[in-house]
Amino acid sequence: MGKYKTPDQLRESIKQNRSRLENCSKHVFIKNEDIHTYIPRYTCQNCGGSVGQAEKDYYEIGLKHGSKEAILRQVYSK
Ligand SMILES: [Zn+2]
Repeated sequence: MGKYKTPDQLRESIKQNRSRLENCSKHVFIKNEDIHTYIPRYTCQNCGGSVGQAEKDYYEIGLKHGSKEAILRQVYSK
């Protein structure tokens, strides 16, 4: 938490991050190699939003399931 001076700054930073993520059309997460922690963080190349490992994994699972469902819908609607 070194880069935040006050709890308000931390809260504001979380709010801005959430807003970036919510307004993004499609995330492309890249691992943050410059942050040396045991818990990896990922930054979206489109919106600049930052997430943890579990959020990234579930987002990608959701994309995969969503696209399969979209394909099935196309097949069965004919
Ligand atoms: Zn994004």
